[in-house]
Parts: sequence; structure tokens; C-alpha cells
Amino acid sequence: MISFLDLQKVNNRFRDKIDERIKNILDCGWYLQGQENELFCKNFAAYCGTRFALGCGNGLDALRLIIAAYGIGYGDEIIVPANTYIASILAISENGCTPVLVEPDINTYCIHPDLIEEKITEKTKAILVVHLYGQICPMEKIWKLAQKYQLKVIEDAAQAHGAVYQGRRAGNLADAAGFSFYPGKNLGCLGDGGGITTNDEDLYTRVKALANYGSDRKYHHIYKGINSRLDEIQAAVLDVKLQFLDEDNQKRRTIARKYRDGIKHSKIILPAAYDEMAHVWHIFAVRTPERDSLQQYLSEKGIQTNIHYPTPPHKQGAYQEFGQLSLPVTEKIHREVLSLPISPVMTEEEVDFVIQTINQW
Ligand SMILES: *Cc1c(COP(=O)(O)O)cnc(C)c1O
Repeated sequence: MISFLDLQKVNNRFRDKIDERIKNILDCGWYLQGQENELFCKNFAAYCGTRFALGCGNGLDALRLIIAAYGIGYGDEIIVPANTYIASILAISENGCTPVLVEPDINTYCIHPDLIEEKITEKTKAILVVHLYGQICPMEKIWKLAQKYQLKVIEDAAQAHGAVYQGRRAGNLADAAGFSFYPGKNLGCLGDGGGITTNDEDLYTRVKALANYGSDRKYHHIYKGINSRLDEIQAAVLDVKLQFLDEDNQKRRTIARKYRDGIKHSKIILPAAYDEMAHVWHIFAVRTPERDSLQQYLSEKGIQTNIHYPTPPHKQGAYQEFGQLSLPVTEKIHREVLSLPISPVMTEEEVDFVIQTINQW
């Protein structure tokens, strides 16, 4: 059986290093906001090329903290791709703002940059871009719009750790970025974890306080904050794995290239990548009108696949206010995508087997 993502195998490669770091934490007895968190944040900021990085509880919190820290709230609008994981949209509505959904480019699955301007109103405060599946959005056009209308740009980089666009990494392409370190992400810990990167010192100071009960120093609360912190164990694990992130992403690129060169089927559309380094292939999603039958076929052949995502946010029960919206490109993508196994621990034989099996469908 070829599993979609074998996390045991992924993390077992670092077993000794992780064991040692966790042992140190147990020996020292300090579990939150200590030296592991400080070290990882320093290293992650350096890796992304930003001045600051903050650890927090998860990717959703990272995004909602950024929005809250910019003072964007009730009555404001934020532009966001319709084709995304629901967390991007929740981060907006949790702050009392209105998500304004924009259709994606059918080739890249990312927000269509030419459809943003028509959605900008007096109430628009920010554009939240999502580097979906690990591919950087067309930032050049987004920066221009943001400048023209004085909008903040926020990256949802939860799927794009390490991707490089014009020599700059994900997390360093906007005013601020939110990361998730959920176990299955390209940089994942052993539970929930998240991070924020920015070059904006004011924003950093605010998110740091907001994520820690709104406190700027002990027992002194200047905001009505939340509790969202990255614990010492997760920070240590991430610090170990960060050293291998580029290597792992390169392995993903190699697999993606093999898939793109090897899969040849009249009914299957392969994902587009406009720049090798701008994609870290968190997900390799093919598209076919007969998605369910392809998934069934691959499952019978012992190949596990997934769907990212089966139902778009505007069709979810939680967002009945969007029930009347027609977003045909997003809906088509959600009907047709199928994610193939891709991970740094997949063997060449496994990749070849996936290619051959698909070509025989
Ligand atoms: C995983 C993910 C999130 C949320 O991250 P959590 O850590 O699960 O809260 C947000 N946006 C996108 C695009 C994601 O893939």
C-alpha cells in the first residue's frame, strides 16, 4: 500500500535529535515561552528572511491574530480566495469582518489577480492571499493593487513553508504571514502549532501581546487577548526539522517533476507551476471530471489519495450567508481535484508505480 502521507516515517528520520531535545526539556522542566521557542522563532525568522517570527497555537490563530492586530474588525472587508481551506475564511469572520470571495485561476488554483480589483470597496482593508498547495500567488499584481488602494496584504503561508518568489521566501512577501505547523504540513510538529512572520515591529509587538492574554508584561493586560502559544516541545521539534526543510522541499519538487513528466492521460489535467522555486508541492492535485472513479481505481490498486477539498467554504453549513453565491471555477475545482501521494519519504519505486498505474487507468 502506498499511503498518502506516512507521518511516522517522516518524523522517524529525526528520531534521535527529537528524543534528545525532548529529554532536555523534561530535564529542565520549562514548558512554555522558554529558550526552545525563542530559538526556533529566531531561526524561522532568519530562514524566512523576516525581522520577526512569533510562535502561536495553530495556523488559524496566526491569521486571526494578524487581522486583529491590524485593528481590522466589524464592518470591514477582506478579500480572500474562494478556493481555499476554510481556516483562511474563518480567520476573517472570527474577527467580525466580511470575507469577500474571489475566484481562482483555473491553472494555478490560486486567487486570480485580475478579479480582485472589481471586488475592492470603501470597506476593504486587506487582501489575504493563500499560497494554495504550496505555490506562491502572483504577488507582483497583488502588491500593485495593495499600494493603489492602501490595503494590507496578509499571506496564508500554511502550505508554503520555504517557497521562494523573486528571491524572497513565503512569509516575507507581504505585511505579515501566518503559518501552520500542523503535523502534515511541509514543516510540521507533533501536534498543533502555528507561527507569524513580519518585518513590521508594531505588528509583531501587538500579536505577541494578543497571543499571550493581551499582556505586554506579566499580569499587565493592555488588550483583550487570547491564549495561543507554541509550546517548548513543538518549538524544539520544529527547530530540528527546519534544518531539513529545504532538502525535503527539493524531494517534493523531484517527485512533482516525475509526475508531471510521466503522467500522460487524456482525461487528467496536471497542475501548473510557473516557477520551480515558487512551488513546494505541499499537495500535488490533478484534475479530472471522473475524479471519484479515479480515486476508487487507485484505491483498488493500493494507492491512497485525498481530496483537497471536497466542499468549498461558500457551500459549507457554517457559511449559509454565501449560499446564493455562484463561484463556478471554485466549484469545478472542488468537484475535480484529487491529491496524489507526495512526501519526502516516498521512494522512487512508489512514484513510478503511481505513474504507471495512473497511465493504465
Ligand atoms: C492548515 C491550514 C490552515 C490552518 O492551520 P491550522 O494549524 O490547522 O489551524 C490555514 N490555511 C491553510 C491554507 C491551511 O492549509
